[in-house]
This record gives sequence, C-alpha cells and structure tokens, in this order.
Amino acid sequence: MIDFHCHLDLYENPQEVATQCRERGLYVLSVTTTPSAWVGTKRLSEGAKHIRTAIGLHPELAQTRSQELDLFDEILPKTRYVGEIGLDGSNDLRPHWRSQVEVLKHILKACAKAGGRIMSIHSRGATTPVLDILEKHKEAGVPVLHWFSGTAQELRRAVELGCWFSVGPAMLHGRKGQDLVAKMPQERVLTETDGPLVMVEKRPVLPWEITIVEPGLQRIWGVSHGNLRETLRENLRRLVTIS
Ligand code: MN
Repeated sequence: MIDFHCHLDLYENPQEVATQCRERGLYVLSVTTTPSAWVGTKRLSEGAKHIRTAIGLHPELAQTRSQELDLFDEILPKTRYVGEIGLDGSNDLRPHWRSQVEVLKHILKACAKAGGRIMSIHSRGATTPVLDILEKHKEAGVPVLHWFSGTAQELRRAVELGCWFSVGPAMLHGRKGQDLVAKMPQERVLTETDGPLVMVEKRPVLPWEITIVEPGLQRIWGVSHGNLRETLRENLRRLVTIS
C-alpha cells in the first residue's frame, strides 16, 4: 500500500503513526510544509525502509516562511523528494500570490540545479498557473499533482507535460473527481490520504487507511484488488526509476 502524500509531522502523535506505518510496511511520502520541519520529520522515519521525507514549503506559508528558502537549498541535496510545494488560488491567499510564485520558481530552479526531484505539488484553484510554471522548469524533475482539481482540458495538458497524479479519498467521492481519475493514465497514478488534513468519520485519516480509495479506483479501472495493488506498486517502482 502506498500513501504518496501525507503529513506525518502534523498528527497529534507523529511517532506512533510513523511506527505503525513502519510495522505495516506502508510506502509513505511524508511531506513537510516548511523547510524547518524537515529534520524533525525525517527523524520519524528512522528505521522505516519505506518512508521517504520530502522537503516542502506549502503555498499557504509562502509569504511568512520565504526566508526559509536558504534552508531549503541547504537540505535539498539530502533528499530526492520535494513537497508540499505549489500554488493556491483561494481568495484568502490571493494577496500573497506574488510570494507564492516567487517561492515556487525558486524551488523549481533549485531542483533543476540539483539534477531533478520527485515533487508533490499542490494546485488548488491554480491548475493553469502551476502548469505554466512547470512547463518553464522541465528540468526540475517529475511533478506529481496531488489532489488534482482542475478541468478535463487542464488534465490533458498536465498529462502532456509529463505530470503524475496522487489520488485521495475526496477525489473519489464526487462525480467530477471520478471523471478526472478515469481520464488519468493508469500508469501515472498513485494513492494518497493527505492525512491528517483529510477527515474520515470526523477524525483525521490515518496513512494505512489508504485502503478506502481502493474500491473507487477498482471500479473506475475495472480491475481486481490484486491487480490494483500490483499496478500501483509497479507505478511507484517506475516513478523512482525514471526520475
Ligand atoms: Mn497536503
């Protein structure tokens, strides 16, 4: 099982959640929202073969944490994974749009200079601007669009640009999300919870509860449970090899 976008450090009991991920052999991309959170979050993965810690600077924090870009650059050589990064076009974040763009450009340039990274990317309300920027920074690595919520046309463009997708519970709930997932190339899809920021049964979703997305994906792809798991595992293997 794979949770390719969750925030281990944001759980109430991060060590306990990390330990359970390790014991269950779960593949986890543990993303951070600030560079300064990376060292402590990385520590949670000690002894866990399948947990990777990505260094990020969330667009919601671009304005207040842009001074951490130096720290970002310093840590970047230590990891192949970057995230959560991106842009957010929500109304309350509009005043910070310019800082968001500056931060994202800085990060993509740094990734390119470092030889490319696997990047977990946020694009809420900003799909086209994110794709515009990714198009200009192709050397930055492989973008994995987390929780894609754009249009079918934007999805086609993202596919053409070489983007991958991590699909979570919320996307599989509604018709719009399901239609988008159906249009994603199967060989570029991974699963994610975005826990603990996503809730199930009024509590934060746990990484190993990634199983809740399996029935939805099986229905869309028309595959057995075994085939689904095999496809996802193979996708992860290929992503790590191509990048
Ligand atoms: Mn997230």
